[in-house]
Amino acid sequence: MSLIKENVEQIRENIKRAALKSGRSEDDITLIGVTKTVGCERINELLDVGVFNLGENRVQELLSKYDELGSRPTWHLIGQLQTNKVKYIADKVSLIHSVDSVKLASEINKHALKLGKIIDVLVEINVAGEGTKAGIAPDETRRFIEDISGFSNIFIKGLMTIAPYVENPEENRGNFSIMRELFIDKALILGDNVDMHVLSMGMTGDYEVAIEEGSTMVRIGTGIFGSR
Ligand SMILES: *Cc1c(COP(=O)(O)O)cnc(C)c1O
Repeated sequence: MSLIKENVEQIRENIKRAALKSGRSEDDITLIGVTKTVGCERINELLDVGVFNLGENRVQELLSKYDELGSRPTWHLIGQLQTNKVKYIADKVSLIHSVDSVKLASEINKHALKLGKIIDVLVEINVAGEGTKAGIAPDETRRFIEDISGFSNIFIKGLMTIAPYVENPEENRGNFSIMRELFIDKALILGDNVDMHVLSMGMTGDYEVAIEEGSTMVRIGTGIFGSR
């Protein structure tokens, strides 16, 4: 059996166990295979084991893989997005995880309008207030969502965070719990283009704890492909 297949099977087991712990089933959790730095041959192996949601953090890399793989996978832009690059991916991605400024939301809206479509987005939260990381401060979340909820052609589907790097995943439990509370609280903000049911959090080192705390979408690279 290929290593990728073996890893995915193990991860699916772990997802199932963690989902049960939080009173849910594995069907409530979406596994995103993070394919940055991974070539199309290995990505095809991932598609063959049924992981069709792929996450890329760079526009250029997403585009070159899109050229080869087309829309067979479902593409997620999970990294920082510069406003001048939105135009290249607007017709290719199904979810942009990293909206953290009105300017970026406005630019996505502009291209969505041009394409005559609605683009789904998540609001990125800098949950631990790390200086080096993108994202909205937790206590600015409500105001930010209100600020961007007027754009007609973006749809705010939920929240995303990149938790701090930790040795022991338990160290992030508190951060994930803050995210869950924000998520539940913000779900109360209802607008024509706000309906929050995606909580994108958890990576190779901490996805089980993230799921126990309410994650609905985990982004896993190293755990599938080995270290980059
Ligand atoms: C690289 C990356 C991941 C995956 O990280 P791993 O530790 O390799 O699982 C998840 N989310 C984002 C935004 C990333 O850039």
